[in-house]
Amino acid sequence: MQFKKTAIVWFTSNLRVLDNKPLYEACVNYENVIGLYCFNKHDFTETQFGIKKIEKFRAKFLVESVLDLSKNLKKLNISLFCYFDFPEDFIPQFCSDHNADAIYFQKDFTYEELKVIEIITQKISKKTLLYSYYDQFLFHPENIPFTLKNIPEVFTSFRKKVEKNTTIENQLSVTPKKRTNLIKVSSQIFSLEDLGFESFEINLNTAFPFLGGESQATKRLLYYFFESKKISFYKKTRNGLLGTDYSSKFSPWLANGSISAKTIYWEIKKYEQQNGSNQSTYWMIFELIWRDYFKYLSLKHKNNLFKLEGIKQINYHWKKDSNLIQSWINGKTSNEFVNANMIELKLTGWMSNRGRQNVASYFTKELMLDWRIGATYFESILIDYDVHSNYGNWQYVSGVGNDPRDRKFNTQLQAERYDSMGKYRRTWLQTNLF
Ligand SMILES: Cc1cc2nc3c(=O)[nH]c(=O)nc-3n(C[C@H](O)[C@H](O)[C@H](O)COP(=O)(O)OP(=O)(O)OC[C@H]3O[C@@H](n4cnc5c(N)ncnc54)[C@H](O)[C@@H]3O)c2cc1C
Repeated sequence: MQFKKTAIVWFTSNLRVLDNKPLYEACVNYENVIGLYCFNKHDFTETQFGIKKIEKFRAKFLVESVLDLSKNLKKLNISLFCYFDFPEDFIPQFCSDHNADAIYFQKDFTYEELKVIEIITQKISKKTLLYSYYDQFLFHPENIPFTLKNIPEVFTSFRKKVEKNTTIENQLSVTPKKRTNLIKVSSQIFSLEDLGFESFEINLNTAFPFLGGESQATKRLLYYFFESKKISFYKKTRNGLLGTDYSSKFSPWLANGSISAKTIYWEIKKYEQQNGSNQSTYWMIFELIWRDYFKYLSLKHKNNLFKLEGIKQINYHWKKDSNLIQSWINGKTSNEFVNANMIELKLTGWMSNRGRQNVASYFTKELMLDWRIGATYFESILIDYDVHSNYGNWQYVSGVGNDPRDRKFNTQLQAERYDSMGKYRRTWLQTNLF
């Protein structure tokens, strides 16, 4: 077989070598493969609300993830080039400089990402072929039993049908081989300071003390499943608030693609074979289906994901009171449970699922504030920010999304139930330095 010459794999939110379709396809079809990652300057510039899309916690995690990717690619004899630029300006020139016959990347489907691809497609040389693949799902879009238009508006209908009718594909893995063009020049790997942040110590009470990257994701998975067997108790512990082990903590690695949902799924299956299945092992898959579901809603409803009326197209009277917004952000509302959660978020970049539901419900249904402002703050500060899960969950909680019951959380009762001794509140309220 005659190999074609040079392919570039442009990594975005798929910072892994295992189960990476664009990387796999490039390696199968091209003799020379070059990796590329571009820290997007748009993400590090202040938005209309005066905050950056990526603040320090996610920036740190991203830097660690890219460094790890570069090491893992090296084992496959592939070099990773890193830049801090606007991808739409930079990538066409990079392809031309490297005489690329093809560029491979993960297919994204939200507005800003599509705009970047559109410009790159216009600017890139006709000689360079573009290949993109949906590669962030558990259930691949080609295998689900619905057309996009018919994706159910209610999670349970979606889940039951995909569980019954959709097989999950196997993982793809690239074997190392000698490549003629291993470029020995190692490109700069950016530090937190290069991206405009000061280095910082992580908070000692954080529930997420982990580093970014595929190697750390694998380590965490091995620990949570096979070493500690905590996954067998996950359904009982998942509403916890303190410590590293009440839930898997996979979300930051899933969000930037350091691990794939398929890898987690197949490891659960392996675990079940060795240790037996129970409601808890199933529940982890159940939650991964929620993750897929928000991606499918985003595919279906496109820009309505970001609109005030949401996918339900409902008009409520939303406020934009900056004093109320600041009191929520800084953990200075009249509600201690909300405050403790918001302080945890501000000091660590992490908050439990239980906490997120409560603070988002309080923001939208108690303070009646424009849900998009809360979502934008989460976007900047969460280590695990994922566009579909974040905006989808915010819509769900605020009543403009796909919650058929449109519930309001009683934050007092929630605190009594999930923090009955007040330990969680004490942990964070006494560290509030703002
Ligand atoms: C207002 C709000 C905003 C959120 N923003 C994000 C976000 O930006 N990124 C993000 O990954 N999750 C988000 N979530 C969902 C959820 O809170 C996190 O996925 C979860 O807390 C991550 O912790 P874990 O990895 O330990 O989860 P586990 O409980 O161990 O679950 C395993 C995995 O299942 C998926 N999952 C679990 N719950 C949900 C859910 N409700 N929606 C979608 N996927 C889920 C995640 O990928 C998670 O890693 C948000 C939830 C709310 C209420």
